[in-house]
Amino acid sequence: MSSDCFAECARRAIAACRQIAAISEEPDRTTRRFLTPPAREVQAWLRGRMEELGMTVHVDAAGNLRGLWMPSAARGRRLILGSHIDTVPNAGAFDGVLGVAMALECAGIAQRLNISLPIEVIAFSEEEGVRFAAPFIGSRAAAGRFDPALLKLKDSDGISVEEAIRSFGLNPQAMDQAAVAEDALGFVELHIEQGPALEAEDLRVAAVSAIAGQSRHTLTWTGQANHAGTTPMHLRRDAMAGAAEWIAAVESCALRTEGLVATVGRIEAEPNTGNVIAGRVRLSLDARHVSDTIRTVAVESLLAQAKAIAARRGLAVEATRQLDQPAVPMDERLTAWITDAMAAAGLPEKVMASGAGHDAMVMAARLPTAMLFVRSPGGLSHHPQETVREEDVAAALAVCRNFLERLAAEVG
Ligand SMILES: [Zn+2]
Repeated sequence: MSSDCFAECARRAIAACRQIAAISEEPDRTTRRFLTPPAREVQAWLRGRMEELGMTVHVDAAGNLRGLWMPSAARGRRLILGSHIDTVPNAGAFDGVLGVAMALECAGIAQRLNISLPIEVIAFSEEEGVRFAAPFIGSRAAAGRFDPALLKLKDSDGISVEEAIRSFGLNPQAMDQAAVAEDALGFVELHIEQGPALEAEDLRVAAVSAIAGQSRHTLTWTGQANHAGTTPMHLRRDAMAGAAEWIAAVESCALRTEGLVATVGRIEAEPNTGNVIAGRVRLSLDARHVSDTIRTVAVESLLAQAKAIAARRGLAVEATRQLDQPAVPMDERLTAWITDAMAAAGLPEKVMASGAGHDAMVMAARLPTAMLFVRSPGGLSHHPQETVREEDVAAALAVCRNFLERLAAEVG
């Protein structure tokens, strides 16, 4: 296949994303939640493409659209490719959907090159967690890890997951059958990077080493609210000043710990008035790293620092843990084949961690799983101006071609 062919495939994948972005719950912006009418419309659109590719298509009990291409000469074990088709409110056109559109191009490339590998493409129904405040509903079902308690969750209109599944014409009792074949060769998710790292290094694509683990805490700082004019500085117990000192410590800890990202993104002060010293401050901490040890040690040290700052300032501080999610390493063998495929395509063998969660994180519990990132121009995602470059998508498809050939050779 010439580079022109990859450019053509890339253009078609990008055009598909643009068309699908117009299928939305809201006029003039892209919002597509789990099992809404636009989700059904996108499925119909994708089903058409899958059928053109000669795939056998069905929708499983979690609403995942699945197309299987089984070449006549192939043995049974399949490669699974895919990503999600739900979006955040006012989304861009590429988060998730690009991975599905590129997966279909991969199936087309495999067909044209007679690569004898069964390929299943999954368009996951739910990843973002917008409608039911629970993410990964689609991939949890596909990974055989669907907790039936999820069926009871309700959306803002009081509709439960179970009711939504039924009114989509699906059977929530058949969730077990949504689990992917356990003997599949693996799952590979193609996804935009959603960050600025590749652009900063002028790289088109990267394999993903691991999806970072994540800690979330809420901290409450308590001091004494008092008059901003009459309370001398040395007699204050200012919760805001204590919190501010700690926020700066969070940033400097992350700056000196390689690979750590730590964020205080939310803060509430009481009474939140210009002429009153803050008596109470509540804030969030989000810390992520691919090493659970580094993350845990950093968070423990930050919480100890909060206590020390509070003690010195006559404040009290209390921390509540909201989330402690371990890192998910990607499969080493599949990832090595992807980096080999990058080298064979004349690209640097860039490997990076993912700071964001993905369906791959859930699928890794069932199958060898890997990811390939495509550069995000401007590092922009979850934003209507999210975009991709055609030459980057073409490069990623060239990598996929090499990867598919390698995989077919290894298992053939
Ligand atoms: Zn995504």
